[in-house]
Amino acid sequence: MASAPPQFPFTLLSPIADRQALRTRRFFLGVLAYAVGVVLLGLATMVDLLTPQGFALSVALVAAWNGALFWLFASGANAQFRDKSLTHVQTLGGIAVIMFVAYQFQRDRSLVLVWCLVVLLFGIFRFRTREFVTSTLFMLAGYALVINLLMTFRPQSVDVYLEWYQWAWLALILPAVALVGARISALRDRLVRANDELTNALGTIQRMATHDSLTGLPNRASLTDTMQHLIADADRSGRRFGLLFIDLDHFKAINDTLGHPTGDQLLREAARRLRTSVRESDLVARLGGDEFVIMANDAGDRDSLGLLADKLLASLSQPVVLEGHEVKVTASIGMASFPDDGHDVPTLLSNADMAMYKAKSTGRDRRIAYSSDLGEHALERFEVEKGLRRALQDNELRLFYQPKIDFQSGRMLGVEALIRWQHPDHGLLLPDRFIRVAEESNFIIPLGQWVLQTACRQIRAWQDARLPRFSVAVNLSSKQISDDGFLSHLQSILRTTGADAGLLELEITESMVMEDPAKSARLLANLRGLGVKLSIDDFGTGYSSLSYLKQLPVDTLKVDRGFVKDLPHNRDDLAITRAVIAMAHSLSMRVVAEGVEDQKQFDLLKLEGCDEFQGYLCRPAVSSTDLESLVRRHGLSIPLSG
Ligand code: C2E
Ligand code: MG
Ligand code: MG
Repeated sequence: MASAPPQFPFTLLSPIADRQALRTRRFFLGVLAYAVGVVLLGLATMVDLLTPQGFALSVALVAAWNGALFWLFASGANAQFRDKSLTHVQTLGGIAVIMFVAYQFQRDRSLVLVWCLVVLLFGIFRFRTREFVTSTLFMLAGYALVINLLMTFRPQSVDVYLEWYQWAWLALILPAVALVGARISALRDRLVRANDELTNALGTIQRMATHDSLTGLPNRASLTDTMQHLIADADRSGRRFGLLFIDLDHFKAINDTLGHPTGDQLLREAARRLRTSVRESDLVARLGGDEFVIMANDAGDRDSLGLLADKLLASLSQPVVLEGHEVKVTASIGMASFPDDGHDVPTLLSNADMAMYKAKSTGRDRRIAYSSDLGEHALERFEVEKGLRRALQDNELRLFYQPKIDFQSGRMLGVEALIRWQHPDHGLLLPDRFIRVAEESNFIIPLGQWVLQTACRQIRAWQDARLPRFSVAVNLSSKQISDDGFLSHLQSILRTTGADAGLLELEITESMVMEDPAKSARLLANLRGLGVKLSIDDFGTGYSSLSYLKQLPVDTLKVDRGFVKDLPHNRDDLAITRAVIAMAHSLSMRVVAEGVEDQKQFDLLKLEGCDEFQGYLCRPAVSSTDLESLVRRHGLSIPLSG
């Protein structure tokens, strides 16, 4: 394996070899035929068929004609003709030469006319029917002219009847030869075309097997193959290489809200950016969905791999215009290097994947290098699936509550219920470790029911304990709201727990609504009818149409933590936050900022007119007992901890 693996494992050779050389070679083949003819003319002179003078004139004509042709080919002037091989010109010239020689012959001109067949043979591989017909007509006309000239200038040397008999014979035989020639020529064309098609089809099949049709990048099979070769080579030479596992952030939301064609467009653009950000010798592959892998040949150590990942993050996060919207897409990147993080393809890929997953769960738009403790902490998927069922039965799930504070009064108006898993071996697990698996395995339905039930019981318990009133927000997943029994289930929970529906708030994301807008609108209206409040979570990450949101019975927009994180410095985020606040207010919605961690963010958001905030500046999510004692101590005016 060469040190730089080719980006595309095969290339179709260009069929445009040096055609001019081929044409010149063909011309020399013609010259050879003339040479044979000249020898035969010499013999004819010896047996008195031709006078020495006639011989000399014929040879001079042959030489002049071939000299002229040679000049055309040698100077490249032939390129100016439509038929660059000059086949037709050469044929007509050849016929003229034959007719001249026939005129010079004293008798037995049929010997010369036989050469007409040789000339037609010459055209078999190049002529179409039209050219065969013109050549044949040219021959017959030429011979008729020769007979007439002979009758005028050398009547004593011509047997007119014999010559016209020969003419008639030619007129019969030549069209037949031309017809057969044209058929052969057509067959040959068809053969060439079929061969071309076959070559193209083979190329396409090979490409389909090794490449992704959407982006044109090599696919997983191709990546695995190249990696295997590179590993074998690196093992021998002691070389190192790096692997980047790239996953676009919130891609599903874009796909769901703007549609698949737009999603495809985004993927193509991402592929293009990745390809242009790396070296020729690096391999960029698409594994499927929004997952890409880059095999970087010269970035074997952590530092250079990190620099490359930063470059890719910067390039991907440049705004892209999709359907007239300017969209900013970020990515999460996991890094692994050979041989430190794995010796074989599956290990390297899964370690880079694990690091990517970590980058996602710690906030996205970042890169994380694989390390062995990542592996220890990462729970295997099946372990999560199996474990969650047990967790529900064995009461290992908890709801924690994070206060939402009103900017103006400083009072806590509500809390958000956030799920935790008190794992017997791994300690307290955050939802990013298991919610995705739960969603993918449908376990989110019983899990979500448990969350709703627990939150409502808690509302009732706090009501009974005569705590001041504050709302409890519950996060819903898309599978839950698309479940037809959801509404009646919620009703029965409210009934059995006796919780005040006015204290329950439901958080859904934009993309959940946009999956089936009409159905969601009906459901939201029904939920509203029960008296519960509704808010749109992670607002700004889903690209839903604002005009659509306006028709939904929603009370609150929660600005995603991603926009708050870099405030007040990031101008783009500031502009977005400002726009969301203005828009929400114009639609009579309240705005909650998520993830407020410091005083500067607090001051700015307050100044901009944001209504509530949630974040570590006040409290992280705490257990129900901790929250209860906080409220007992301070009422709803919980002091900030930051
Ligand atoms: P979310 O609904 O956007 O919840 C806010 C997340 O931001 C919570 O993470 C919260 O702990 C975190 N957060 C709050 N303030 C700050 C801050 O100042 N700085 C930082 N860095 N983070 C802050 P958590 O609890 O890990 O939840 C993550 C996500 O998991 C939630 O995002 C929500 O989408 C999902 N989730 C949580 N509980 C449930 C649930 O019961 N059901 C469903 N379906 N999803 C849930
Ligand atoms: Mg939430
Ligand atoms: Mg959120």
